[in-house]
Amino acid sequence: QQAEWAKLKDEPTFSKDGEQVELVANIGTPEDVAGVINNGGEGVGLYRTEFLYMGKNELPTEDEQFEAYKSVLEQMGDKPVVVRTLDVGGDKELSYLDLPKEMNPFLGFRAIRYCLENEHVFRPQLRALLRASAYGNLKIMFPMIATLEEFRKAKAILLDEKENLLADGVKVSDEIEVGIMVEIPSTAVIAKQFAKEVDFFSIGTNDLIQYTMAADRMNEQVSYLYQPYHPAILNLVNNVIEAAHSEGKWAGMCGEMAGDPIAIPLLLGLGLDEFSMSATSILPARTQIRDLSKHDLASYKDTILSMGTAEEVVAFVKEKTEQK
Ligand code: PEP
Ligand code: MG
Repeated sequence: QQAEWAKLKDEPTFSKDGEQVELVANIGTPEDVAGVINNGGEGVGLYRTEFLYMGKNELPTEDEQFEAYKSVLEQMGDKPVVVRTLDVGGDKELSYLDLPKEMNPFLGFRAIRYCLENEHVFRPQLRALLRASAYGNLKIMFPMIATLEEFRKAKAILLDEKENLLADGVKVSDEIEVGIMVEIPSTAVIAKQFAKEVDFFSIGTNDLIQYTMAADRMNEQVSYLYQPYHPAILNLVNNVIEAAHSEGKWAGMCGEMAGDPIAIPLLLGLGLDEFSMSATSILPARTQIRDLSKHDLASYKDTILSMGTAEEVVAFVKEKTEQK
């Protein structure tokens, strides 16, 4: 099996019936890029930038961030790199930011909500990203977007910093796509409206599942409700993909679900364009997809989306793909 994976390392990803998808990796630091390349990643689908901010007593400077982003982009060459802006709060704390103590941190002041209120934190990150964009194929993604206004505000600040840099004679790419993570149900439900304004979606199922099922992703006692294959989740995922395609945009997924062998046939059938997973899952996923017919899987779509339970969905997928 290792030998078969090695052969597929530098190959693109095609289904049995010749449909192409993109298999990319989630990373946390520039040091992770070697693993992405060694495992045949076609790009980076989620660069979690929190690590730059963690394990220290103060904010990283704009220059420190610039060096990290530039390093990732240069190592990846012309392959796409999706960088997510700071996703603090919730499960990700930073002592020096003195975030408020909250009753429900996952429903609180986090990610884009924090960044829009703290431009002294947000702007240097955006400037670092814009400066780094000259060194590769950068895409910028905002986390935890719940409303169109949030996206518009974040994008306006980004464009404002772009103007500032250009006025100072700094080189900035003109090709940067600007997208959002879909991890809040409100956004998945009106994905169609978002699709007119964003360049892409990346579905963050780790959070989307907890918010849809109202089950804390860290709480063992309610973990039985944390159901990636629940028809409610699949209907939201389908809604996002259809919305993207109706506007000629692409839809990816960067939650754990994207690398899961049970979920992969479901997502392929729903038309997901980009699957972002841990680097070590890429070659197994490419091998699996080569044996799957996207058209066959797509023909089960209405049946699957009408099912009542995750259990039915799993049994159906296993039967159709002969997984034990
Ligand atoms: C997600 O929510 O699915 C995601 C990819 O982001 P994180 O796990 O960092 O919250
Ligand atoms: Mg998330």
